[in-house]
Amino acid sequence: MNYCSACGASLIVKIPEGDTLPRFVCERCHAVHYENPKIVVGCLPEWEDRILLCKRAIEPRSGLWTFPAGFMEKDETLEEAAARETLEEAETEVEISRLYALFSIPHVNQIYVVFRGTMKQATFGPGTESLEVDLFTREDIPWSKLAFRVIHDILERYCKDGAHAPVHVGTIIDPRQP
Ligand SMILES: [Zn+2]
Repeated sequence: MNYCSACGASLIVKIPEGDTLPRFVCERCHAVHYENPKIVVGCLPEWEDRILLCKRAIEPRSGLWTFPAGFMEKDETLEEAAARETLEEAETEVEISRLYALFSIPHVNQIYVVFRGTMKQATFGPGTESLEVDLFTREDIPWSKLAFRVIHDILERYCKDGAHAPVHVGTIIDPRQP
């Protein structure tokens, strides 16, 4: 961040009075520009005993598999974001059934909020961000070709779950940490 979104002046980094962390601060209008984690909303679209996954057409991790997920937009609810991402990436409509997982990924400043969703029909297709979309049984999930660690960990829990699993809460640790 270089310039103040309120007045256009240059920003400096400093700890504001009464605060504990360095922030981008405008020297002209004194606005403090906070940076907070972003929310990624995902969906596990289910059809009978199978789950719908997408092969990514975009970087990062193009060519690898994920469940539909993306950054939440302004003016939408979590459930709307999960259904929207599923429609955009997998061209299928889901009824969001319940919250499935909350994961923190501190080193990239992301929070994953993942729902289970019931597909309204067994029709689907690759949206612009997907190369391919397909239904997988738990046994057929392409474990070695999943796009992100968080996708892997959530699907792993999903496959071990019984019918009445609680909401999973987890953290993805920075792999570069000793
Ligand atoms: Zn300013």
